[in-house]
Amino acid sequence: MERLIGKKALVTGGSRGIGAAIALRLAQEGADVVLTYERSQDKAQAVVSQVEALGRKGFALAADSADPEAVKAGVGKAAALLGGLDILVNNAGIFRGGPVAEWSLADIDATLAVNIRAVVLASQAAAAHLGEGGRIISIGSCLAERVIEPGVSLYAMSKAALIGFTKGLARDLGPRGVTVNIVHPGSTDTDMNPAAGERADAQRAKMAIPRYGKPEDIAGLVAYLASEEARFVTGAGFAIDGGVNT
Ligand code: NDP
Repeated sequence: MERLIGKKALVTGGSRGIGAAIALRLAQEGADVVLTYERSQDKAQAVVSQVEALGRKGFALAADSADPEAVKAGVGKAAALLGGLDILVNNAGIFRGGPVAEWSLADIDATLAVNIRAVVLASQAAAAHLGEGGRIISIGSCLAERVIEPGVSLYAMSKAALIGFTKGLARDLGPRGVTVNIVHPGSTDTDMNPAAGERADAQRAKMAIPRYGKPEDIAGLVAYLASEEARFVTGAGFAIDGGVNT
């Protein structure tokens, strides 16, 4: 399908995992894409090469989501490189888990900065560029609404915050024809949560479909939400988690 011909998209954290799959899927659907990364310059460039091989424009920007100025500047640079902006995908995220007694102030601050503040700032900066048909899509988590295991409080808090933000922003931007939605992946095979990792069997045991999702599964839902077909969908959350929360 080519539902995004001529669209201009920014995907945060597009060098690996779910973000890389989203960047590629948006390009397959016709969009030009800027992706950000923190450290993985080579991997980001490899994704850009794949975007370009599809005949689309692709750019990689180093932009640490923990740095407010870098987040805001990244949106501005993306809009300048692409000649505007239609789609923002807030994907970059980190997982800091563990027992309550072991959380450091650095863990708490990093979780707040990357998983929440960066989403707020990028959305605010993107809103200045988005017009009728604009899209903001954030990546939440199946842990945002239901927490089925210990040791994930900080992460669950950060993703739950995005639900309220998504609903509020949908109200703020709806009159301008901009939709705002959130996608909640479950266990998805990436560096963050490998299907062969030591926590994997416990996760599979809780799922209706007891196997990990692929980053491409998440990307397909994001591409739908980015498309014109989804013009009446806003303020909504979408679980794509193998039924872990059923
Ligand atoms: P990965 O750890 O595999 O990839 C993370 C991506 O985000 C990389 O591109 C990384 O860039 C980027 N990133 C991380 N920190 C920063 C930062 N400070 N600044 C800029 N970019 C950053 O994660 P996933 O692909 O698994 O996760 C993507 C999203 O999906 C996250 O929001 C995560 O919370 C969410 N999610 C994942 C699930 C899973 O099971 N995998 C389940 C539910 C939600 P770099 O390569 O430079 O480090």
